[in-house]
Amino acid sequence: MPIATTDPATGQVLKTYDPMSDEQVDAAIERADLAFRQLHGTTIAQRGQWLTAAADLLEAERDATARLMTTEMGKTYAAAKAEVTKCATACRFYAAHAERMLADEPADAKAVKAQRAFVRYQPLGPVLAVMPWNFPLWQVMRFAAPALMAGNTGLLKHASNVPQTALYLEDLFRRAGFPEGAFSTLLVGSDAVERILADPRVRAATLTGSEGAGRSIAAIAGRELKKTVLELGGSDPFVVMPSADLDKAAEVATTARCQNNGQSCIAAKRFIVHADVFDAFAEKFAARMSALRVGDPMDENTDVGPLASESGRDELHAQVRDAVDNGASVLCGGEKPTGDGWFYPPTVVTDLRPGMRMWAEEVFGPVAGLYRAASYEEAIEIANGTAFGLGSNAWTTDPAEQERFATDLDAGNVFINGMTTSYPELPFGGVKNSGYGRELSAVGMREFCNTKTVWIGAGEAGPGAGAHSE
Ligand code: NAP
Repeated sequence: MPIATTDPATGQVLKTYDPMSDEQVDAAIERADLAFRQLHGTTIAQRGQWLTAAADLLEAERDATARLMTTEMGKTYAAAKAEVTKCATACRFYAAHAERMLADEPADAKAVKAQRAFVRYQPLGPVLAVMPWNFPLWQVMRFAAPALMAGNTGLLKHASNVPQTALYLEDLFRRAGFPEGAFSTLLVGSDAVERILADPRVRAATLTGSEGAGRSIAAIAGRELKKTVLELGGSDPFVVMPSADLDKAAEVATTARCQNNGQSCIAAKRFIVHADVFDAFAEKFAARMSALRVGDPMDENTDVGPLASESGRDELHAQVRDAVDNGASVLCGGEKPTGDGWFYPPTVVTDLRPGMRMWAEEVFGPVAGLYRAASYEEAIEIANGTAFGLGSNAWTTDPAEQERFATDLDAGNVFINGMTTSYPELPFGGVKNSGYGRELSAVGMREFCNTKTVWIGAGEAGPGAGAHSE
């Protein structure tokens, strides 16, 4: 894939970049290694000041940065502005809480026959971050803010269609005060990842992206014995039970499916509705989906902008056609527009069956699959009947049912009566083919830390021959 900014609203190529040479990449890795040693001599408070300065810059530059993202990948300008603000909030959160998250954790010294024992969290070194285009700032920030606070350095290989946002991020951290090399953008294609990950100076990797990219990076990292965090695709269920407020559920379902033009890993993608309220919900949902305004992402009246790429739109339409050709019904949308830009109408497809692509695959665009479930048990069976396990959503006012959903949904998160989202305070990640490891919260910050056991004794003899010492 060429490294270029192509406006998805018009299909016009606006800027192209030559990929960095191996020598340029090696120099960036060297700078990241040197910066890691430099950060070793800094305090958490100092790094917090730099991260706070990054937040200040993000807020001051919000509108221009948002415009850049809209131009590179088509999200609405309003959504892009909210993304910048969220990034600033996350920077402030980690600046404020890293001291507590990274504090030594005392252990029971007596139980381990020590004078003193504790766990210390220390950074690993340069971390390679391979990132997707769908939230070009936030996906990077939710890795970078905690990783830099912990004292790691970052090497960003961003998606090839958002190079200007990628370069902005490097510039942002440098202007905020982080040492040269603490955060670098590598303008390279995905074919360069193997060589970078094999470099002994690179200590770990994080990937947010598709299942295929995850498998590839996990295989390389496995061979190289490097820690990885993988945030992959999702096909989140959104279950509606009879006790739910159907108007509210239909309203949130529409936003949950079409936010970010339908291109979110934690977008609700499969709407599983109890038979008792299926028809009523389907009518409300389809009405709301078809009322959304599709158009110029810079226009403040637009709800849904273009998809990020032509191939993404073709793939989405092929999934809809496959369902329809095999007997599914379209309640609204489903036609590929002609004209410039990679637009697609909000679409609701029902009568889906196993064997159809939409049943098994992630659907990355404003297209909802609507499923009928005869009971709670069948709703859970459909919800969990996927290879993915990222987010999940259930709508019920019955407290006992809420408890059951919290336990029974096989996913990295369960949101009840509200839209799935991410917060710096809460761990974020998936199970099954949605990946492993967590971002955000103290759990995310510690993913790229050495959880070091420290045992301090008085110098007595060891456990003695025959004792178990491993
Ligand atoms: P993608 O094609 O996997 O690309 C993601 C990143 O991985 C890009 O930087 C890409 O580089 C790189 N890449 C692709 N194939 C690679 C390979 N074989 N080896 C090394 N690097 C590789 O995904 P996308 O289309 O950008 O993003 C959409 C996917 O990301 C969806 O599946 C979505 O659900 C998932 N996602 C998950 C989360 C989460 O938190 N779980 C969040 C957002 C998105 P190039 O651009 O140069 O190809």
